[in-house]
Parts: sequence; structure tokens; C-alpha cells
Amino acid sequence: MTSGVFERAPWRVLSIPGPQRTFTVASGDTFEDCDPTTQELVAEVRSSTVDDVDRAVDRATHAFRSARWRNDGAVRGRILFRYAERLREHVEPLAELLTREQGKTIGEARSEIFGSAEMVEYYAGLARTVDGRAFALGDEAHGVVLREPLGVVAVITPWNWPLTLLMRALAPALAAGNACVVKPASLTPAITVEALALLAQDPDLPEGILTCVLGSGGVVGNALVSHPGVHMIAFTGESGTGIGVMRRAAEDLRKVSLELGGKSANLVFADAHLDKALDGAMNAIFTTTGQICTAGSRLLVESSIYPEFVERLVERANALKLGDPLDPATTLAPLVSFIQQGVVRKFVDLGRAEGTLLTDDVLPTNDLIAAGCFALPAIIADLAQGSRVVQEEIFGPVLTVHPFDDEQEAIGFAEITEFGLAAGIWTTDLDRAWRVGRAVHAGTVWINTYHHFYPEAEVGGFKKSGLGRQQGPVGLLEFTETKHLNFDSRTTLW
Ligand code: NDP
Repeated sequence: MTSGVFERAPWRVLSIPGPQRTFTVASGDTFEDCDPTTQELVAEVRSSTVDDVDRAVDRATHAFRSARWRNDGAVRGRILFRYAERLREHVEPLAELLTREQGKTIGEARSEIFGSAEMVEYYAGLARTVDGRAFALGDEAHGVVLREPLGVVAVITPWNWPLTLLMRALAPALAAGNACVVKPASLTPAITVEALALLAQDPDLPEGILTCVLGSGGVVGNALVSHPGVHMIAFTGESGTGIGVMRRAAEDLRKVSLELGGKSANLVFADAHLDKALDGAMNAIFTTTGQICTAGSRLLVESSIYPEFVERLVERANALKLGDPLDPATTLAPLVSFIQQGVVRKFVDLGRAEGTLLTDDVLPTNDLIAAGCFALPAIIADLAQGSRVVQEEIFGPVLTVHPFDDEQEAIGFAEITEFGLAAGIWTTDLDRAWRVGRAVHAGTVWINTYHHFYPEAEVGGFKKSGLGRQQGPVGLLEFTETKHLNFDSRTTLW
């Protein structure tokens, strides 16, 4: 075993050649990690204890003292380049495990592994660019401003895109020269540990630069966030949890980066290329069965095309095929857990009571659907903008639809929630795209596309969707601090 945390792991499929190194600290009780489609055991995982969190942070603190790691971007870059390659070499077993553990379709799982490799590769290149600037301060003094790593970074991740969201914090944090302690979501520990094992085995990665702790957010996550040895917390998850993380970090003034929830508006104007906008609306809400922070969960359509557009959308949603996510024919995977299924049902019931449910309402009956955490796609019309279904993040395949009469009304509707993560605009009028794109408060605004992410482009939230940015060059700088070295060769101080 590479990790020492799996007691039983029937779905453990990686057989990693080369040296195996322990990078997890876990000596507590075990918990079961089950497949949301079949309820079969994926792994029995050993949790960390609060003492293990202390040990993990000590290990990282000790490793961070190594000047070679902190000062040699070329070494860090080479390690990350090799890691990106290893992820690509193992795409099939990793994707299968991701699908089994998280429930997403196998096609999406493959694209998550490839996307993660790209993220690592991007920051591998940037590892050699953590530089500063120098300037003269008169004739006899000069200044050198350096970018330095922060120290120990805690990376806490959710379950919906467990590797992408891990890599977009871990890769820049390591590229900048920090030591990291990772705490994955309790629903996706196996894919996280298996993917990290491919990095931990690199002989040039100093012992302790990467450590993983496992177990409940309330205990293990909380202990990590509250640990005085942690210099920065890179947290991705629900807005309420993120606010609690920030509150605890504020007690001793530690840095946080927060990637939180969303309730994104997708705006379709009458002049849009309608077939493309229909594809975009489907992708915006049904990717990952709606369990994605940037889900375009509020569709705003110009009144003149609203009836036809919504009718065609409902037809397409009803044609989605629920099934085994390992079957390439499946187009709507199960939700991650029965808890999530309960949340989705509650919101669909509320939507049905307050508005009009336009999509089919009866789950197909077969053994697979009965065993799995499935939910039908739901499109709901006639809801007031103040309805909880319109305002709250559901994290499921639930779309609310609303007509608008003009640009100003569309912008007003887009802005009515407390979130500001993403938005979509569908129009062939580029002046309008510019105006509306500038007016909407969202970290990413897609124009005639949706859900395309690139390592080189920053992401993050306005309002309650987060603080700080990940990806892009700014995503690297988030994991550094500046220091001014001031040299003065005058013989007197003044
Ligand atoms: P949670 O906030 O419930 O959990 C996220 C992570 O935090 C998990 O590892 C969890 O552990 C841990 N955690 C929970 N409580 C605490 C605590 N008190 N202290 C420290 N850590 C804690 O989110 P979900 O996992 O349910 O993920 C879904 C949410 O993530 C959605 O709101 C979604 O919008 C958001 N998200 C945001 C993204 C963005 O980029 N803005 C991207 C993807 C998701 P455990 O699993 O054990 O509970």
C-alpha cells in the first residue's frame, strides 16, 4: 500500500511502479466510502485524529525549512512536469475510480484527469517564474522585492470535482515553494489519495512537502484550519463553511483563499444562435448532474423566444438518459449521495408548490435506479425571484427559467442573488455582450459558451462566492508573500 489508509479497497485499481512512500497521517477509526450508483464498497478508509493533524503540520513545517525546496523553482517545476505525465499515464484507472467513488460519468471523469494534468503542467512552467524586482533608491541604496512562499498551506477540497479543485490549489502552492497538507472531502478520499500517491512517489519530492489527512470536516478539517502552524488555508466548498473557515483564520490573522458557492445566471437574448444556446443551457445545468459551483441554474430568456426555447429545452432534458455512469451512453449520472438526493427532492417539491414543474416527474423503475442516488432533471417556471429555489444553491439538476423584456431587466435578474461566481451570455451582438459582461458581478462570464476552464485564466467569486483567485498567474501569487530587502551603502544612517 502506498498510503496506509485503505483497510479494504475492492476498487483500488492503481498499481504504481517504483518506490512507494507514505504521505498520509491517519491512525483513527475507519469509515466506509461507497459507490453512489451501486452502494458497493469503494474503500474502507482510516481517518486521521486531531493528534494526526498536529503530526501532519509538524511534518510539513520541518520539510518547509529545506532551503533547496524553497529556493529552487527548477526542481519544483521538474517534479510537477513529471507528475502531470504520470496523471496522464494513469487516466483510465483514475477515471474509473473517480466514477465509482463520486458517481460522475466516465467521459467527465476522463476529462477531469486530463484537466488536472494540464493544471499541474501549467504551474510546473510557472515554478521558475517566482521572481521579484530590483530598483535603485538614490545613489547608495537599492531595494530588492522578492516573492517568497508562505510556509505550510492547508488545502481543503469538496467532492464534486475532487482532482481539478485540488490541483488548482495544490499545484500553484507547491510551484511557489510551500509545503502542503491536503484534506479531501469525506466522500472522495480514495481518488484523492490514489492521485496524490503518483506525486508522493517522486524521489526528488522532499519528505513532508506533501501530507494528506482524512476524515470529517468538523473534526479533522476544523483542527487543520485552527492549527497555528498553518500559514494559509486554501478552501473550496460551501459558502457557509467558508465563512466559518475565515472566522477561525481571523483569530490569529492567517491568510485564506475561498472558492465558494454559486447560483449563476445564464442569459439568452433573442438574437443568439439558438441551437448553440440550447446546448449551452443543457451543459450549464446538467454537467456533473448540476453538482458544480458554476452551474447555470437560473436561465433568463428574452420574452420573444421564451416559449419556444423553453419547450425545446424541456424536450432535451426529458431525453437525458439516467444510468450507470461507467456506461458511455449515460448522459445523467447519479448524485453523489442519498443526502444530496434528499436536498434536491426538497427543492423540487418546493418548486412544484410555488411554480410549475415542466419536466417529467416520475423516475424510471429498474434495479439500478432503485439502488442509486438518482434524480430526474427538473426545469421549473413561474417562480418569484425571491423564492428559495431561485436564491439558494441546490447542487443538483434543477433549473429555474424566467422571461425578460430587455437588457436592463436581464441584468437586474442576474444580480438578485448573494452569489457572484459565473454567468453566461448568448447573443450575436458583441456590443451587448461587452455591456452585459461588464455589468454582471461574476468572476467568470462566458460569452456564447459555458463551462470552459483554462489554467491560464483566473477564476473566483464576487460577493458570497469567494475571496481571492485561483488559476492563472494570480493563482500562483496567492501562495506567496512579498519581502523587501533594502540595501544601503551610505556610511551614516541619515
Ligand atoms: P463543504 O463546505 O461541505 O465541504 C468542503 C470541504 O470542507 C470538505 O473537505 C469538508 O469535509 C470540509 N469541511 C466541512 N466542514 C468543515 C469545517 N468546519 N472546517 C474545515 N473543513 C470543513 O462543501 P461540499 O463538499 O459539500 O462541496 C459543495 C460546495 O462546494 C458547494 O457549495 C459548491 O458550490 C462549492 N464549490 C465551490 C467551487 C468554487 O470554485 N467556487 C468549486 C466546487 C465546489 P467533509 O467532506 O468531511 O465534510
